[in-house]
Amino acid sequence: QVQRTDSLVVVEPFFQSLKDVAGLFIGAKPVAMRLSLAQSLPASIYVDVSKLRQILQIFLTNAAKFTAQGEISLNASYSEPNLIISIKDSGTGIPESKLKSLFDPFQQADHDQAMRDRGSGLGLAIAKRLADLLGGTISISSRYGSGTTIELTLPVILPKAETAEQLDQTQNRAQPQRQLRML
Ligand code: ADP
Repeated sequence: QVQRTDSLVVVEPFFQSLKDVAGLFIGAKPVAMRLSLAQSLPASIYVDVSKLRQILQIFLTNAAKFTAQGEISLNASYSEPNLIISIKDSGTGIPESKLKSLFDPFQQADHDQAMRDRGSGLGLAIAKRLADLLGGTISISSRYGSGTTIELTLPVILPKAETAEQLDQTQNRAQPQRQLRML
């Protein structure tokens, strides 16, 4: 039985560390890694951070694996009561016929044999299980040949009263490059 354990997470360093890890996944490939945090994001949230991190690392691993060049962007915003996180890549994309079965265990789109050999086909099935456990939903939009966007919508609880200082920081945050695409 998998338990859910929420804790208070400071949003910005959390995403920054994910961005850094994604950079490691990308390695030496000519792929830029971007992070875009919307102004709507609270400074901190209650969430099961290890499960959230696991889900997002699965998405980022895939994005890095299937993107040879271009860009991967990690975008986060908040729309009450949801945290909305999308990862957009300029990689191979996924054939339409494969999109529906992607969350089934051991399913791999057979568009890239070399990549297929390296994966287990379990990543998205695990991500889906974890998202279900947290009351979240995952959606994927992709066109074969022109990249993939995967989005996690996750209800989160905010700390009762953010301190004036925290609110201030939120409001003073640099203007985000908001690039969310509706799925
Ligand atoms: P794997 O271990 O093969 O990566 P996943 O369940 O994580 O297993 O992914 C299943 C399949 O979905 C992958 O084999 C790949 O064909 C496809 N896929 C997932 N994410 C992407 C992406 N960002 N770009 C292209 N294809 C993807």
